Amino acid sequence: LRVPFIGGNWKMFKTISEAKAFAEVFREIPRNPGVRTAICAPFLDIPVLTEMFAGTDIGVGAENVHFEDEGAFTGEISLPMLKEAGVGYCVIGHSERRQYFNETDETVNRKLKKVLSESSITPILCVGENLKQREAGNEKSVVSGQIEKDFDGLTPEQAKKTVIAYEPIWAIGTGKTATPEQAEEMCGFIRETVKSIYGGAVSESVIIQYGGSVKPKNVKEIMAKPDIDGALVGGASLDPEQFAAILNYME
Ligand code: 13P
Repeated sequence: LRVPFIGGNWKMFKTISEAKAFAEVFREIPRNPGVRTAICAPFLDIPVLTEMFAGTDIGVGAENVHFEDEGAFTGEISLPMLKEAGVGYCVIGHSERRQYFNETDETVNRKLKKVLSESSITPILCVGENLKQREAGNEKSVVSGQIEKDFDGLTPEQAKKTVIAYEPIWAIGTGKTATPEQAEEMCGFIRETVKSIYGGAVSESVIIQYGGSVKPKNVKEIMAKPDIDGALVGGASLDPEQFAAILNYME
């Protein structure tokens, strides 16, 4: 049985004091304990979040990492740095990084392997097609191609531990959610792709999230789909009440 996992991805939002103000409110809101959650935040916000969420079941994640442990890589942050800061999750290969920061399937693959070398940190791998690719009917080949390249060289154990977020680029920040049927079709297809590489035991336990304009009003329908195990929430994770309402979708 797959435990629902709904994460927030703050992107480039919130200063340290804003992160603290969020945490003060968010940690007091009653939440369904059956839904795993984490906030993935800008690097500078991580120490205040791990401090504020200590002793709670709220995880803290990073939004990116470098694939080397240290070195002359100005402006980058490494996995040992994240580990010492108490990070439990790391987003890898978000479409914004692929689009604007030259992230490729090759760097995503190296980052994924790096994160998986550290047992205390769970990677959240983002995949998804853009509008042009969907309009051309290529969404499945694009996404299976990403999975194959990004997972290259991973053991079944490592594949099983990797959370996959299906985020169609045309639905991110646009208010244009994929229909629950579209999201389910692609998440089911991702599970099939994982099955074809690693077999049913891995594909049945891998957690697959949907991301793209998830809001309190549409989360329930999305979460009801059998192959969708969770969500990765951008804009609506910036407000503690809204994000908590998403986490409490069952009520
Ligand atoms: P929005 O929820 O703002 O559409 O963002 C989705 C996303 O990119 C999460 O990683």
